[in-house]
Amino acid sequence: MNKKQKTHEKITVKTPLVEIDGDEMTRVMWQWVKEKLLLPYLDMPLEYYDLGLKHRDETNDQVTMDAANAIKKYGVGVKCATITPNKDRVKEYNLKKEWPSPNGTIRAQLDGTVFRSPILVKNIPPSVKTWTKPIHIGRHAYGDIYKNQEIRVPGAGTAQLVFKPADGSAVICQTIHEFKGPGIIQGIHNTDKSIQSFAKACFTYAFDLKLPLWFATKDTISKTYDARFRQIFQDEYEKNWKQKYEDGGIEYFFTLIDDAVARIMKSEGGMLWACKNYDGDVLSDMLGSAYGSLAMMTSVLVSPQGFFEYEAAHGTVQKHYYKYMKGEKTSSNPMALIFAWTGALKKRGELDHTPEVVDFATKLEQASLETIESGIMTGDLLRVATPSSKNKQVYTEEFIDAIDARLDKKLL
Ligand code: NAP
Ligand code: MG
Repeated sequence: MNKKQKTHEKITVKTPLVEIDGDEMTRVMWQWVKEKLLLPYLDMPLEYYDLGLKHRDETNDQVTMDAANAIKKYGVGVKCATITPNKDRVKEYNLKKEWPSPNGTIRAQLDGTVFRSPILVKNIPPSVKTWTKPIHIGRHAYGDIYKNQEIRVPGAGTAQLVFKPADGSAVICQTIHEFKGPGIIQGIHNTDKSIQSFAKACFTYAFDLKLPLWFATKDTISKTYDARFRQIFQDEYEKNWKQKYEDGGIEYFFTLIDDAVARIMKSEGGMLWACKNYDGDVLSDMLGSAYGSLAMMTSVLVSPQGFFEYEAAHGTVQKHYYKYMKGEKTSSNPMALIFAWTGALKKRGELDHTPEVVDFATKLEQASLETIESGIMTGDLLRVATPSSKNKQVYTEEFIDAIDARLDKKLL
C-alpha cells in the first residue's frame, strides 16, 4: 500500500457511494477486493451499511431500510451478498426471527427492475457456440406466481374468479372449473403500474446500452393477462421510444415466449431480453450456467426514479465459508463482486461527470478479464475453461493479487 501511494495519485470519487456489506465468503472477499483493488487507488467517500445477518438482527432489520433510503439519497449503491434467513439460520445465528430477504426489502423500496449480464472471457466458451455476445436479462420483480394464493381443492365443487369493485358497481365473476374430484387452483395478479414501470425500465436500459430489446409473453393462450403485458409494452414503446429507437437504430422486438426461446438459441446474443417474473427466474439461471459460472454473472437493480444498486448475482458461497472458517484456503471467485464495484463506480463517475473514475473502473475490469484470459483463474472457471497448459487454479487472494499486478501497470 505504501509503495502504491508513492507511485499513484489517488483518483477522487466526488459523491459518496453507498456500500452495503453482507455475509459469509462474499463478506470476506468484499474486504479483500476493497483493500487490494480499490482503496489503494481511490479517494472514495463511502456511506457504509452493515447488512451482515447479526447486525440486521441487532437493529431489527432497520439497517436494511436505512441502506435503501441511502441509495435514494445518493443514487448509487453497491451490495455484497446477504443471507436470507430460514429456520437453520435462526438457530445458527441465534436470531430474534426469520428476517425477510434484504434484496426483497430494497427492491420494494426502490420499485426496481433487476438486470443481469454475464461477464465474458475468451477462454470460457459459452455452452451455446453462437452466443458470442452477452445476453442481458431484465426480470420483472413483482407479482404473478410470486404473490399468489393457492388452494388445494379437496373434492367436487365450483371454483370461481371473483372481483368486487371498490366503487360498489357490479361484481365480476367467472367460473374457473367445475371440479368433479380433488385438484388445485391458483390466483395470481399484477398491476398496470408495476408492468408500466417494468416496461419503462427495460426501454431505458436497452437504450442506454444501445441493445435491441426483446419481450415475449404467451398472449395467444393468456388473452387477457399476458395480452395486458404485451399492450403496455407496445403503448410505452409508441408513446416514449419509437422515434428514439428508430433514430438510434435500436430494435424493439415482440414475439411469443416459445418462439423467443427458439430464436435465442440460434442468435449471437447481444440483446436485452425482458422477461416476466417466472421466465426471468428460470432463464437467468440457465443463461448463468450456459455462460460458464454463477460467479460470472452481475446484477443491477434499476429504479424508475433513476437509482442504481449493483451486486453479484450469486449468494454468499456458504460451503466455501465453512472451509475458510476451518482455516482452509478457498478458490472462490470474486469476479461478480469486482464487477459490482466497477459497475457502481462507472455509474457514479457518469453521474458526477468524472471520466477518470469511469476510466479506473474500466481498467480494473480489463485487468480482471485479462488475468483469466492469461490462464490464472479460480476453480469454478478451471472446470469449464478451454484446456491449456497455461491454465492454473489459484486461491482467491492470489487471484486478486494477480489482478492487482495488472491494474497497477495499467494505471502507471
Ligand atoms: P450460492 O452462494 O450462490 O452458492 C451456490 C454454489 O455455487 C456454491 O456452493 C458454489 O459451488 C457456487 N458458487 C457460487 N458463487 C461462487 C463464487 N463466487 N465462486 C465459486 N463458486 C461459487 O448459493 P447458496 O449456497 O444456495 O446460498 C448461500 C446463501 O446465499 C443463502 O443463505 C442465501 O440466502 C444467500 N443468497 C443471497 C443472494 C443475494 O444476496 N443476492 C442470492 C442468492 C442466495 P461449489 O460449492 O460447487 O463450489
Ligand atoms: Mg432462479
